[in-house]
Amino acid sequence: MEYISTRGSAPALDFEGVTLAGLASDGGLYLPREWPRLSEAEIRALRGKPYPALAATIMRPFVAGSLTDDELDALCATVYGDFGHAAVTPLVQLNERQWLLELFHGPTLAFKDVALQLLGHLFETFLARRDQQMMIVGATSGDTGSAAINAVAGRDNVEIVMLHPKGRVSDVQRRQMTTVRAANVFNLAIDGSFDDAQAHVKRMFRDPDVTGRLKLGAVNSINWARLMAQVVYYFYSALQLGAPDRTVAYSVPTGNFGDVFAGYVAAQMGVPIERLIVATNVNDILHRALSEGDYSAGGVTPTITPSMDIQVSSNFERLLFDVGGRDGKALGEQMAAFEASKAMRLTNAQAQGAAALFTSMRADQDETSRALAWAYRETGQVIDPHTGVGLHASLAASEAEMIAKDIPIVTLATAHPAKFRDAVERAIGVRPALPARVGDLFGREEFFTEIGGDYEATRDFVLEHAAR
Ligand SMILES: *Cc1c(COP(=O)(O)O)cnc(C)c1O
Repeated sequence: MEYISTRGSAPALDFEGVTLAGLASDGGLYLPREWPRLSEAEIRALRGKPYPALAATIMRPFVAGSLTDDELDALCATVYGDFGHAAVTPLVQLNERQWLLELFHGPTLAFKDVALQLLGHLFETFLARRDQQMMIVGATSGDTGSAAINAVAGRDNVEIVMLHPKGRVSDVQRRQMTTVRAANVFNLAIDGSFDDAQAHVKRMFRDPDVTGRLKLGAVNSINWARLMAQVVYYFYSALQLGAPDRTVAYSVPTGNFGDVFAGYVAAQMGVPIERLIVATNVNDILHRALSEGDYSAGGVTPTITPSMDIQVSSNFERLLFDVGGRDGKALGEQMAAFEASKAMRLTNAQAQGAAALFTSMRADQDETSRALAWAYRETGQVIDPHTGVGLHASLAASEAEMIAKDIPIVTLATAHPAKFRDAVERAIGVRPALPARVGDLFGREEFFTEIGGDYEATRDFVLEHAAR
C-alpha cells in the first residue's frame, strides 16, 4: 500500500515509512492512496473470527509490502493475546438498543492500548530492519503517555522520553507511567502546564541541534498505524450485531478525531455504518465544525474528561482531505491559513461530505454525570466520564429519533472507570476499584526526573539520555 500526504507535496511512502515518519514532511498527515473495500460476502465470512485473526485480516492490505502475512499474523497474536479479556474488546448490552464497546482491557486501562501496543512492536520490527535507533519524545496529559510507555518499555532500538506537567495528572495516570522500570523509559515531570510540555516537544522536532543528532519519533494519533489498528474493533462489533446484513450506529467520545476517524475508515471499507456520532465535551471545536461549519480554536477548558480537552483536532484534516476531493494543494493552503488565524470555514464539499456520515453532540459536566448515573441506575454498569460523554450523545440521539429506531447504537467505552475514579465517585457515589491485572500500582516505586520549565533543560536531558 502506498500512502500520500493530505498536503500534497511530501513524497509517497510505504507502510514502514509512514509508521516511522509520523507527520509528513510537508506538515500533512498520511493516508492510504485508496481505501481497500470488502464485499458483503467477504465481510460475512469474517463472522466468528477471534480478534487477533480478524485484526490481521483487516490490516493486511494496509501493511502490504512492509510485513509478510506470517509476520502480521504473529504480531497480532502476540499483541492481542495479551489483553485482560479474551474478547479483547467485548461488547456489552445496556438495553434493547444501547451497547457499550469496552476498549479498556489493555495494560493501561484506556483504548489507546489497542493501537499503541501494536505500534511498539512495529517500531521494534522496522527499526531493527534498518539498524536504526529512535527516540520518542512526547507530552501527555495522562492516557497517551502511559499507553506509549507501556508499549515500548524494554523494546530494542527505541527509547522514550515522556513529559507530564508536574502535579497535573491523576495519581493513577502518573503511576502508570512512573512505575515502569525499563532502561529505555524516561519520565520528566516539568514545571508548567500540558501546553508548555507540548510546546517543548513541538520545538524539539524543529530544532536542528536535536534532529541533526537523533531520529525522533511520534506516538500521537497523527501516526497512521494507530488509526489502522482502531478500524478493527468497528468490524468486530458490527459483525456481532449482524453486519453486513444490519446497519449499526456509533457514538465516539472524541478529542483529536482519531478514534472516530477509524470508524470512517471502517465505513469506507464496507462496514454498514448508519451514523458516527462525534461526542465532545465543552471543548467543542468539532461540534461547531460539524454543526455550523465553523472550525475555530478557542482556549481549553479543563473538564472531568481530560483526554478530550483539546484546542484543535489534528486528525480532522484527514477527513477534510478525503471528503473534500483529495486535493492536497488546496487543503495545504486552507490549513496554512488556519494555522495563521486559528479559524476557518469548511468548504461546501467538506461540510456536505462530513454530514453524510457524521452527526455531532456536545455534553457539559452535568450531562456527563447524568449519563453515568443513568448507566448505573438502569443497567448497573459503572462507566468512566469519557464514556459518559459518548453515552449522553447516544441517549440524546435516540430520544430525538435522529437514528431509525431499529438500528443499534454502540458507545465506545474508552477508559476503565477506575482510571477516573474521583469523578466517577462524585457522579454516582461509587468508587470503582482498579482491576487486579494492574497489580500493586500504589505499592511500586516511582521513577521520574523533575525538571524546570525552560525548553533547554528538556532538550539537554533528551540529548544526554539518547543511546546512539
Ligand atoms: C484519547 C482519549 C479519547 C479521545 O480520543 P481521540 O482519538 O483523540 O478522539 C477519549 N477517551 C479517552 C479515555 C482517551 O484516552
